[in-house]
Amino acid sequence: MTNPKVSGGAAFLSEDELFEALTRSAFEFLARAIDEFAESAKFSTIHFAIAVELFLKARLMREHWSLLLDKPDQADKAAFFRGDAKTATPEQTMERLRRVALVTMPQPSREIFGLIAAHRNKMVHFAHAGENDTDGPNGVQRIAEEQCAGWLALRTLLTEWPEFADFQADIWRISVQMEGHRTYLEKAFAAKAAELQSHRDAGGRVIQCPSCRFESVKVEERIDAIAEASCVVCRFFRGSEITVDCPNDDCRAAIRFTSYDGPPSECPTCDEALSKGDVAAALDTGDAITKDNYFDHVPINCPHCGGYHTAIEHHDRYICSECFTVDETYGICGYCSEGQLGGVPEHSSLVGCEFCEGSAGRYEDD
Ligand SMILES: [Zn+2]
Ligand SMILES: [Zn+2]
Ligand SMILES: [Zn+2]
Ligand SMILES: [Zn+2]
Repeated sequence: MTNPKVSGGAAFLSEDELFEALTRSAFEFLARAIDEFAESAKFSTIHFAIAVELFLKARLMREHWSLLLDKPDQADKAAFFRGDAKTATPEQTMERLRRVALVTMPQPSREIFGLIAAHRNKMVHFAHAGENDTDGPNGVQRIAEEQCAGWLALRTLLTEWPEFADFQADIWRISVQMEGHRTYLEKAFAAKAAELQSHRDAGGRVIQCPSCRFESVKVEERIDAIAEASCVVCRFFRGSEITVDCPNDDCRAAIRFTSYDGPPSECPTCDEALSKGDVAAALDTGDAITKDNYFDHVPINCPHCGGYHTAIEHHDRYICSECFTVDETYGICGYCSEGQLGGVPEHSSLVGCEFCEGSAGRYEDD
């Protein structure tokens, strides 16, 4: 057999090698972005955005290499592996991960990646922007916040995606490097000390922010299992803290986790294994499905993480058991008849919901 990697004298990468190369390159850009942060906010922002894009592309490539192309239907494998083809934009990459690869990505992660990409474009296209020209006096702090949130979102995905299992040492290395960014947020944290103290004095709790890692998240009063929680230092943690009882009858200790981190894999008190299913069962206050109510039961999907049938009734609210987004309502799609957390678009019978194409989709031809 001939070596498929070499053809016409040009060296081709195999799919495995290309995945490895994209991922290595992504880590390099990331390390570079963090290193040069103090020196140049501009280049740090640009390199950080490139790293995010490369990680997402590497993951998408694991579905099929042609998905990285601008137009996958005109795939020319030779040109692509030579590095000679127009590739998908960051937006296309995220959309394809969701629609084609069915990769669930939490809404806050998609938002922060979008923000970082937009920021990069601004830095690139406004040629007059100097190395450390940032928006206003708190500009550098805001970029530090943005990168903390960007790294949190990336780290969560890279740890969850089995494709990146061989890169745990790199993930750890970047996490250590990112610690330096906290210096830029210390002033903001100091400025909030009094506010946090008065929250504590009033009997409130303050927990660590999953994004900027200061003890700076104010937990509001808990209603049922859910307490609103948000960070007063950075803009990026706005979610909730969830409390469920340990499923072990001899323990029943309260297990707390943030909507960002998700539940621990075991009870911190008795070490009993805790699955997402256990947590969903603990939060679910809806009627059990029986043969009598089966046809009245509406399964609810979550548009925030792309979770299929993951939203459940929790007292007078609904919560996604995958990404823990909470909403007071859900809507029923006029086309597929399934529920969608937070509601469905107007004219859903025509346009569908996040999970179907609607009737208009059937008449589309290409
Ligand atoms: Zn924070
Ligand atoms: Zn327990
Ligand atoms: Zn969800
Ligand atoms: Zn639908």
